[in-house]
Order: sequence, then structure tokens, then C-alpha cells
Amino acid sequence: MTTTLVAPSAIADLLQQQREFFATGVTREDEFRLTQLKNLRQAVVRHQDEIVEAARIDLGRPAFEGYFEVGVISELDHAIKHLRAWMRPRKVSLPLNQKPGSAWVQPEPLGVVLVIGPWNYPFQLIISPLIGAIAAGNCAILKPSEYAPATSQMLAKLVAEIFDPAHVALVEGGVETAQALLAERFDHILFTGGERVGKVVMQAAAQHLTPVTLELGGKSPCIVTPDIDLAVTARRIVWGKFLNAGQTCIAPDYLLVHESIKPALVDALKQRIQACYGDNPAQSPDLSRIVNEAQFDRLVGLLDRGNVLIGGDHSRPDRFIAPTLIDGLTWDDPIMQEEIFGPLLPILTYRTLDEAIAAINQRPKPLTTYLFAKDKATQDKVLHQTTSGSLCINDVILQVAVWDLPFGGVGNSGIGHYHGPHSFNTFSHLKGVLKKPFWMDLNWRYPPYEGKIQLFKRFIGLS
Ligand code: NAD
Repeated sequence: MTTTLVAPSAIADLLQQQREFFATGVTREDEFRLTQLKNLRQAVVRHQDEIVEAARIDLGRPAFEGYFEVGVISELDHAIKHLRAWMRPRKVSLPLNQKPGSAWVQPEPLGVVLVIGPWNYPFQLIISPLIGAIAAGNCAILKPSEYAPATSQMLAKLVAEIFDPAHVALVEGGVETAQALLAERFDHILFTGGERVGKVVMQAAAQHLTPVTLELGGKSPCIVTPDIDLAVTARRIVWGKFLNAGQTCIAPDYLLVHESIKPALVDALKQRIQACYGDNPAQSPDLSRIVNEAQFDRLVGLLDRGNVLIGGDHSRPDRFIAPTLIDGLTWDDPIMQEEIFGPLLPILTYRTLDEAIAAINQRPKPLTTYLFAKDKATQDKVLHQTTSGSLCINDVILQVAVWDLPFGGVGNSGIGHYHGPHSFNTFSHLKGVLKKPFWMDLNWRYPPYEGKIQLFKRFIGLS
């Protein structure tokens, strides 16, 4: 078995091969797309143990959370089931003055697309965009993160095993490789990563007028009102924050808690942390590790301010940081100025919902907002008065696996979205088509125009 390792100098050749393959028209056929998706599904099932093991090596992931990566098969099943419906022309109605004729939206593939992935869900965040790229009939080049090397190698092996590189190829490497890829012209780029690199990607894409989908991060707030089921709220927050040791783009970044419920919530969260990870979380088999020392040092630096309510212990040799609750913070503290992306959970309070909403709206638009509240008026208020890539009410994280929901950010948290039909649309050009018969050709639009202006005014709705 060979890996598809491509030197930067070979990237232009690979792209040329893919352009030629795309030009054959093979990728446009529904049967071809379905076969590729089914082959991918089988390969993921076949290699599930290796995928889980790679996540363990890269991130110390417990096997249960490793299976989140394998969860792409659920997205594959959804795509396989709906592909033909997504591919169908979408009829639109004609205005009366345009009849006779017909009009429709014709989805068509874009060509050769580039997918650049991050290290935190290193398998899933390459394969999930790939599903959309294949479903929409494209060729694709994939660049996984160099900071999850075990997954990068296993992805390279899997891709080489099932795809013709002229259709789908994987290029391993770091920043230089990414930059060599970005120097080329693609028909679309889907990038998942941080805001800083997102800007680099968008700048490079602009040279070729390549459209981009930028799946970025940011600080996702979690509002907790007094009107909740306390035990369930604590269970859900602790799970969503500390899975993958907080290295989840849609993890609740910080809690914004009504001051009346803070003491009870803190107690419930502490109990849950102990129930999930024991008295000594360093010994827990269910807690991932921080991806590398640079991230570890950054996170430990954030512990300088505030009061640690539980956790706070850490060990650099095994990149362990305990699930940590912190209060006594202000918005000006470093931990509230950047995306945390680790197992540290700041707890801030609010007095009125208006105050909480204003605090969120003063800051960059988040990837996700979480709200815990039973009250419908409270739910509606947060729904209508805040903006974020997604909103999840009374739960965390699970919105990511509702395949018909668009997944993406807004403002600084990203551009564009994908998943399910939204991936199909993202990786398609939606061509508008108008078809007219010859048998009727009224004279109203042709010169000489004399005497026709009243009729035209009526057509455009003036009289
Ligand atoms: P990153 O931006 O550092 O790196 C992402 C990718 O970009 C990697 O493949 C890397 O090799 C490449 N890259 C790095 N520097 C580059 C450069 N100068 N030019 C071109 N390419 C370059 O992100 P990361 O640290 O791997 O991931 C963490 C970030 O990703 C967090 O901000 C997180 O919120 C975000 N994220 C977002 C989502 C989402 O779906 N919206 C999902 C996961 C992670």
C-alpha cells in the first residue's frame, strides 16, 4: 500500500491531472459519485480501528470520542440517500410576461476543489467536506493538519487505497505545503482552522478569484438562565466543554450565568466533573490530551487570572490539563479575549437578559450560541436579538450532526457553510437556465419602440 505523498513541486502536475480527469465528464455521472461515496463508506468502516487509534495517538482521545471521527459514515449515508434528489434540476416559475418557456436551477460541479483541515477533529474535518465535494461531482485535493500526524498518515493511506489521484488526492505537509497549494488556482477552497490563517487563505484565493468557505472558530457563549433543569444542564455543559479536552470549535467557550443560579450551577458542574473524570482526572481514561506543547503553554498561561473553582492542575510531559472552572474574571482578562480551545471554562454572570445579549453583541459574531432556558419568550429573545453561525437551545454540540442544518459561521466565525445539502450546494455552481420555444415571438420588446412603452410599463408593474 502506498501513501499519496506529493512534494510541493508536484502539486501543479497533480492539479493538471485532476483538471484533465474532470474534463472527461466522468465525475458528473450520478453512478460514479455514488460509487465513490460508497467506497469511502466501506473504507471508513474497514479502517475504523485505525481511525480511532490515530485520534488516540494524536490527541489522547478515548475510543468513545474517537468514534466521533468514524461518525462521518452517518453523513455519508445521508448523502448517498439524497444525492439523486440534490442533483435534480430545481424548477422555478416564470413571470407571466416571460411565458411560454421554462426555467430551472441546474446544479453543476465546480471542477477541482481544495480542502484544508485542522488538527482537532483531523479525520472528520477532511472527510466531511470531501463528501460534499464528491457528491457535487468535483475532483479534490486534501491537505490535513501536520499537527495530527498519525491521522494525516492514516488519511493518506485510506485516500490512496480507494481513489484515483486524478479524482481525489491527499497532500501531507505543513504551512509550506499549504502555501504551495494556495498558490495554484482552484475552483473552490474549503478551509477549517483559525481566523489568522483564514485571512491568509482568503488572500491567496483572491489572486485567482477562487470562492472560499472558511470554517473558523471564536468564542461561543453559553447563556444559562435560572429557568432550567439544573442537573441536565450541568451534564450537557460538562460533556460539551470537556470532550476532546475542550478542543472543539463549537464547545461552549464561556458561561454567562444569571447571578441567582450561579452557586447552584457551580456545585452541579463540579459534581458532574467529578462524576465524569473522578477525583484525579489525570488518571481518567476518558479525558483527551492537549495536542502539543505550544497549545499547552498557551492554555496554562490563561490560568494566571481569576479563581480556579475546580481543576487547574496540569502536567506538561503528558500535556494534561484538568477540567477547570474559573470565576472572578472580567471581559478584559486574556482568557476572555481569545478562543480558549481547551478544558478551561470561565463563568461570568449577568443580571438581566438584555445585559447578557448586549455583552454578546458587543463582541465578534460567534460560531455558536448556546442557551439554557425553558421559557419560550427568553428563547425567542435570544433567537432574534443575537446572531451566530448556529444556535442550540438546551443542549450543546449536537447541532453539528443534524445534516440538513447548515454548519458554518458568520462574521469573524466564518464565511459560508456546509453539511448535507448545504455541502452539495457549496461545492456546486447553481446555474440558472431559461429555455424558450420558437413558436411564439411577440413584438413588444423589439425596435422600433414607438407605441410600446405603455405595454412595457405594465410588464414591469408600473401601471
Ligand atoms: P490553523 O488555522 O492553525 O491551521 C489549519 C490548517 O491551515 C492546517 O492544515 C495548517 O497546516 C494550515 N496552515 C497553517 N498556517 C498556514 C499558513 N500560513 N498558510 C496556509 N495554511 C496554513 O488551525 P488549527 O490550529 O489546526 O485549528 C484550530 C482552529 O480551527 C480553531 O480556531 C478552531 O475554532 C477552528 N476550527 C473550526 C471548525 C469549524 O468547523 N468552524 C472546526 C474545527 C476547528
